[in-house]
Amino acid sequence: MKIKFIGATKTVTGSMHLIQTNGKSILLDCGLYQGKRKDYYEINSNFNYFEPYKIDYLIVSHSHIDHIGNIPNLVKQGFGGKIICTKATKDLGKVMLLDSGHIQEKDVEFVNKKRKKHGEPPLQPLYTQQDAENTFSLFEGYNYYEPIQLNEDIELTFFNAGHILGSAIINLKIKENGKLINLVFTGDLGRKNLPIIKDPDIVETPHFLISEATYGGRLHQSQNETKSILVDSIFFALKRNGKIIIPAFSESRTQQLILLFHEIFDQHHFKFPIYIDSPLATSITKIYEQHTEEYDKETSEYLKHGLNPFRFNYVHFTSSVDESKALNEMSGPMIIISASGMCETGRILHHLANNIENPNNQILIVGYMAAETLGRKIADGEKKVKIFGEEYNVKAKVTVLDALSAHADQRELIEYFNNFDRKKLREIFLVHGEETELSAFQKILINENFRNIHIPSRGDVFEV
Ligand SMILES: [Zn+2]
Ligand SMILES: [Zn+2]
Repeated sequence: MKIKFIGATKTVTGSMHLIQTNGKSILLDCGLYQGKRKDYYEINSNFNYFEPYKIDYLIVSHSHIDHIGNIPNLVKQGFGGKIICTKATKDLGKVMLLDSGHIQEKDVEFVNKKRKKHGEPPLQPLYTQQDAENTFSLFEGYNYYEPIQLNEDIELTFFNAGHILGSAIINLKIKENGKLINLVFTGDLGRKNLPIIKDPDIVETPHFLISEATYGGRLHQSQNETKSILVDSIFFALKRNGKIIIPAFSESRTQQLILLFHEIFDQHHFKFPIYIDSPLATSITKIYEQHTEEYDKETSEYLKHGLNPFRFNYVHFTSSVDESKALNEMSGPMIIISASGMCETGRILHHLANNIENPNNQILIVGYMAAETLGRKIADGEKKVKIFGEEYNVKAKVTVLDALSAHADQRELIEYFNNFDRKKLREIFLVHGEETELSAFQKILINENFRNIHIPSRGDVFEV
């Protein structure tokens, strides 16, 4: 068996690994690499390490764009096999890919306007909404724990990764030359006690483990503080009739927030509106409502009482641009949750522009903000920021809350690894993390008596 590491090597995006055994090629994830524009086109447009038509199966861990976002290109360039994932990932994946196709088209439109001014020829989008749609018929959704026989030598099982709805740990049992090889790919590993979804499953110790280590060198804030920080923000808003603006990813983070506010509003009898101002978040919330089988005990309680965890008196989903604009004219207190998550595009920019200079308002940072993004600048406490090319003074109160992270932190990763039998585990490959995080985690694993821990580079091949 050969394992070829193609993406999310010493970085967090573009998850993609290739397994070759018994003449079959299995691709694990087909994520979009997100980085500088030049690399972005180069890396995502060319599958330099394999021929897409030669891939027999694509298995995807979950529906985040860094794990599925390059599937339309794979299909455009000749892949015609099955895309195998969990049922929720299949539903979420389609919505996410369609939205990504739309973003690609808009993005190129913008770039081409600039290129035209400079007399340069127009670029083609990485892929279009139509390309995204062309992948839909290949998706096959399965339940967790249901062994899937890919052929007589390869058996696949999904376990719950506890990261987002539908997220899976991928377990492959491969018969090769009369021997059984057990391989596990963690996908993105979640954490215990996240809102909505169940905790990550403990899996049998594999021979070969490909593990993420996004936060291999860091610890998160305690989850216990999440609610009290949100409640404090609400009291601040009530006192000053202010608005709470929350930039949030439409998938997962927005639904987590709705559920937390549902609990908080019930407990404290708050009576003011929460607006979910993102059409993508509205579509995704509907999928969350359908996949009740994924709910944890606390979230299932709502169903037992005939309630919908994501709908209550004070939560409103805005759809049209006019409805979104109307929020500017209304006075607080209110909460507005909008996208994009890192404040790079989308409706959130209007809300920030309209509210950031008022000291009665608050901006709650609840997710990862990449370097150079507007979200990072606000999170870092910069006093002046540019929105739509204009300078704004940040007078609104800024609060950073990182306890909602859907990734295991260093302590949780070690706790997870400690479930494994060190003697049986032959090789460990660390992926999906900046190099500093992976190296820090590698050192800790060595101290914990794990052996053969690799940090592969892009294109590295391990024959096992
Ligand atoms: Zn993820
Ligand atoms: Zn990821």
